[in-house]
Formats: sequence, structure tokens, C-alpha cells
Amino acid sequence: MNTTIPVTLLTGFLGSGKTTVLNRLLKRMPLTAVVMNEFGEVGLDHQLLEETRGPLALLSGGCVCCQIQGALAPTLKNLWMARDKGDLPPYERLIIETTGIADPAPIIDTLVSERWLAARHKLDGIVTTVDAVFGPDQFDAHFEAQRQAAMADRLLLTKTDLATPEALERVLERLAGLNPAAPVLTVTQGEVAPEAILGAAGTVEAGPRRWLAANRYRPARLFGSAPAPDHAGRIRAFSLTFDEPLDREGVAAALEMLVAFRSKNLLRMKAILNLIGEDRPTVLHGVQHVMYPPTQLEAWPDEDRSSRFVFIVSDLEEEFVARLLHDFTQAARPGGPRSH
Ligand SMILES: [Zn+2]
Repeated sequence: MNTTIPVTLLTGFLGSGKTTVLNRLLKRMPLTAVVMNEFGEVGLDHQLLEETRGPLALLSGGCVCCQIQGALAPTLKNLWMARDKGDLPPYERLIIETTGIADPAPIIDTLVSERWLAARHKLDGIVTTVDAVFGPDQFDAHFEAQRQAAMADRLLLTKTDLATPEALERVLERLAGLNPAAPVLTVTQGEVAPEAILGAAGTVEAGPRRWLAANRYRPARLFGSAPAPDHAGRIRAFSLTFDEPLDREGVAAALEMLVAFRSKNLLRMKAILNLIGEDRPTVLHGVQHVMYPPTQLEAWPDEDRSSRFVFIVSDLEEEFVARLLHDFTQAARPGGPRSH
């Protein structure tokens, strides 16, 4: 079996219903391997898993995003080897369930940068559970909860049957601010279809405009315009548009600067770019310091030839990001830029 294994990262704050969702999914997706990360030396959370027909691996003794990051690669490797030898039931996909406070970026980093793993696995998407009733309070009390929601490809809103219409409205409003383009799916009593999590990240080839979803983001507040209102919070989601083709080296240098000095603040970035001298659009995609290699699309999806970036950042002024890209990519251009 040489096909790559799609990997779903399942995150969500403590008590947001991750394990319930996982239980329901596994009943309908028997060919799934699960890697569960538990804080304690003696894992207990996995006992909440009702039924696993596929392989289950436990990462215990700490959080895999910060304390035992090195344990993920050997765990995935062992699963793969055991499956190859027939020691484990076959599996076609893998779900990594993180601890409640985990940051997805180090886990994605392992999947992308460990060459052996990267050749055999591909990130299928980040799916994050959010409690419809307590979600907003958790966002206020724990910044990690906000970060998780901001970095998701898809959001699963749990316990909606317990939420009043006002509470629902409140949580949806918060999510729209943290992560405007991620689809929000409703989970009632843990009931969720496999389609809800499969292919969460989508593919740019299937629809570049939809993949980028720049129209879901508000344009960055720029030079001299009114500062962002105080209630905008620490996480900002915004888009940047450049009408003139951009200098390739300039874009690379600007993003390198961002990653080198502000990778903790850079939660997600996607872009479709019109680069000087290129007929075809170039696509970029990054999660914190993990930048996927740029790819070129076959053709522009429509008449619009502007370059568009979408960013989700924390504790970072959007004007800073805009100015950086602006200065690096357009400095040499006579007449100046028009970004909006
Ligand atoms: Zn951690």
C-alpha cells in the first residue's frame, strides 16, 4: 500500500466535545487510525473512546504540541510499519486528536518537514470543535481556544441543542471574527457525518477563489485609516489586494521577514498571486512558520488578475503586514501601488 494517508487534525478546547465527535465518526469510518494525545502519564481520555475498530495509538505524558513533540513522528512511523506488516488492521486515514490546549502548528510542522512522514501522509485539514454554549467564555478566558478556532479549516459547533438562539448568535459572531472563511457545521448530540471532516482543507485546484475565500475577509485597515476598534480583539482576519503584478523576490522577502520575526503571530496565510513575468497564478499557503512550497495553477480562474492575500494573525497590526508586503513588493514601481 503506497498511497498517502490523509491526516485530520482534530482540535478543540477542553470539554468542547472532541471525543464525542470522534466516537460518532469512528462508528462510520472503520478504516481510521487514531492518535490521541493525553496529558497524563497514564492516559485516561482514550477510555472514553467507545469503540475503535482501527488502530489506536496513545501519546501520553504531555502535550504533543509543546512537551513531547518528538514523539509524534515515531508514533506515526510505527503505525505505518505495523500496518504494512499486517500487525495492525488496515487503515485508510488518520485522525490526530490533540489535547484541549494544543497549538496545531508544531504538529503540522512534523507532518510537513519530516521527510519520511511527508512522503506517506498528507494533511487533510484542521477541524476544531467549539462549544456553542461556553465557546465565547472560553475564548475570553483562554487565548489558546481562540487560536484553535482561528487556525481551523472547518469548525464543528457542538451542543447546539443546549444553546439558546441568543447564545448561538453570540458564538457565530465570535467565530466569524476569528475565522471568517471556515465553514461552521452544527453538531447535535455529537452526531456528525464523515463528510463533515473529510477534505476539510479543500484543494486550490478544485476552486481557487473558493479556496482563498478572500471575499469573506474584510479588507485590511491601511495607512492613515481609522485604527481597528478595541473590541476587534487580539486575533484579526483580513485581506490584502494588489492590483499590479508583484515582484517574486519581494514577496518571498516580505514573508521571510514575517516568518522570521513574527511566526508566533502569524496564524494562517493564503494567497493567490500575480507575479511579474508569470502568465499563471502562484498559490501560497502557510500555517505559522510552516510555509508550503509555492505552487502554480494551470490558469487564472476568472478575469480578475489582482493578487490577494488573506491573513489571520494574533497580536499583530494589520498595517504592519500590509506595509511590509507593500514596501518589499512595490518599492521599485513608478507611480506607486494601489492596494485596498
Ligand atoms: Zn502543547
